[in-house]
Parts: sequence; structure tokens; C-alpha cells
Amino acid sequence: MEARNKLYFFYKNTKKLHPQVEELKAFAESQDFHLVNDPAEANIITSIGGDGAFLQAVRKTGFRDDCLYLGISTGQLGFYCDFNINAHKDMLEAIRNEQIEVRKYPIIQVEIDGDTRLYCLNECSIRTSTIKVFSIEVYIDNLHFETFKGDGMIISTPTGSSGYNKSVNGAVIDPKIPCLQVSELASLNNNYYRTLGSAFVLNQERELTLKIKENINNYPIIGLDNEAYSIRSNKEIKITLPDRRIKTVKLKDNSFWHKVQRSFL
Ligand code: NAP
Ligand code: MN
Repeated sequence: MEARNKLYFFYKNTKKLHPQVEELKAFAESQDFHLVNDPAEANIITSIGGDGAFLQAVRKTGFRDDCLYLGISTGQLGFYCDFNINAHKDMLEAIRNEQIEVRKYPIIQVEIDGDTRLYCLNECSIRTSTIKVFSIEVYIDNLHFETFKGDGMIISTPTGSSGYNKSVNGAVIDPKIPCLQVSELASLNNNYYRTLGSAFVLNQERELTLKIKENINNYPIIGLDNEAYSIRSNKEIKITLPDRRIKTVKLKDNSFWHKVQRSFL
């Protein structure tokens, strides 16, 4: 097996962060890690910042499933950040450990009109960008399930379930259950329009299709974790959960439920 010692650091170089990162890099080199300038050459990709930085690091390096991602926090520990920037030793010891245990997080695949393939670690959200409601035809596999009218929908991964999804009353899901959660953003419900009205969870073998109807003068926004794109209506979006997983280090007493408790209780 190839030695796991090629490190790439992903961070925003600010005046405040610079000396801390330099110190961390020097320590890593003194411990026989090689720092690489191209993330494609790394087998450990480390983000420095918060959960938002981790999401960016995974996105900008192409959702690799053949390397280890590591989140380093510059403040509070988060959902993807297991180490504090000052705990150099803990971090390098954790990745050096021969019996390293790896945590595997499911990601979502988003296919727009059958070609563009994108991924999300937290969620894919589709929202109106105007003050008007818009419509989405929702299909589960080939079943036309409902016609949604409202502000939008969020499709989250298990690890994303504690993010945006939770703010709209979705359930927090154990990442050991590979699934998609669909939650609503202000659905219109009356005698003409009806949606399920609650979040629902789909098994990983299911395919969710969202057909965005022609909405005159309405350009929906599609959010992929913390990046947003504006799309024209009349699009077909297929959302699935591929077998690909994002790997991080598994630490003692730091299960997903420890993190949920640490953050919310
Ligand atoms: P942001 O607007 O700075 O962050 C929103 C907050 O969500 C931050 O405190 C962030 O932590 C935290 N967060 C990120 N992923 C999380 C997760 N899986 N579970 C629990 N909390 C999480 O944007 P950002 O930092 O780039 O993060 C993007 C994420 O923010 C999106 O993927 C979405 O889940 C979430 N979001 C939430 C709402 C809402 O609740 N109304 C709206 C938009 C987006 P850090 O401070 O450590 O970065
Ligand atoms: Mn953030």
C-alpha cells in the first residue's frame, strides 16, 4: 500500500491564518510528511477554516474517493472539522496511525438535463430567485409523486441533514444510513395545490427527478453545498446517491452523534 504521507492544504490565505498555517506545515514536514502543491498528487487533503471551508475543499478537489479528507478548524469544532488548528500532534498522529479507521460519507449526484454531473456533500437546494412561487414536478423513480409549488426544495445527504435541512424541520440522519432526505421550503398548500408537507427519506436505490416547469420570468437558483448557480426553468434534475464516498478519519469519542450533541444540545 502506498504510504499516506502526501499532504495538500486547502485554505484562504489571510494575514491572521498565514503564520498558523506556516507553523503547521513546518511541523508536518518535520514529521516526514510531504507537502504537495497539486491536490491531485495528495493522498491527504486538509482544509483549514470551518465546515464551509471543508465543503469547498472537497468540491474544488473533485470529490475524490481515493484520498483522505481532513477538516481543521480555526474556531469551534464542526461537523466536518475534527481537529483544532493548534492540535498539530493529534492530527498527524491520527493520520499516521497504522490502524487508522476511516469514516465514509455518502454524497449526492445531481444530473441536469442528462449531461452535467455534479456532486454535493451537504445538500442540493433549488429555490426561486424572485418573490414569486415556482413549480416543480416531483418524481420518485417513475412515479409522479406531487406537484410542488412554493419557494423550493432541499435534498440533503445524511451529513448535510444537520445543516440547511435541519433549519426547515428535517430530521437529523445517521450517516451510516445511505439515503436522501427531501424537505420543503414554504410549500403552498390549499384546495388547489397539495404537497406531502413533511420531509421524506429515500433509500439509496431510488432516483428523485425534479422537473422545473416553465416559469415565466423566474430563474431558479440551484445551490450545491455553498455554491449557487442560476438556471433557466424547463430543466430536468435527477438526484441519486452514487456508491462513491468521501473518507475522513474516525476518531475516538467523535461519532456523528457526539457532533450533533456538541453542536446542538
Ligand atoms: P454559512 O452560511 O457560513 O454557514 C451556515 C452554517 O452552517 C455555518 O455555521 C456552518 O458551519 C454550518 N454548517 C455547514 N455544514 C453543516 C452541517 N453539515 N451540519 C451542521 N452545520 C453545518 O455557509 P457555509 O459555512 O459555506 O456552509 C454551507 C452550508 O450552510 C450549506 O451547505 C447549508 O447546509 C447551510 N445553510 C444553512 C441555511 C439555514 O440553516 N437557513 C441556509 C443556507 C445554508 P461553519 O461555521 O463551521 O462553516
Ligand atoms: Mn461557514
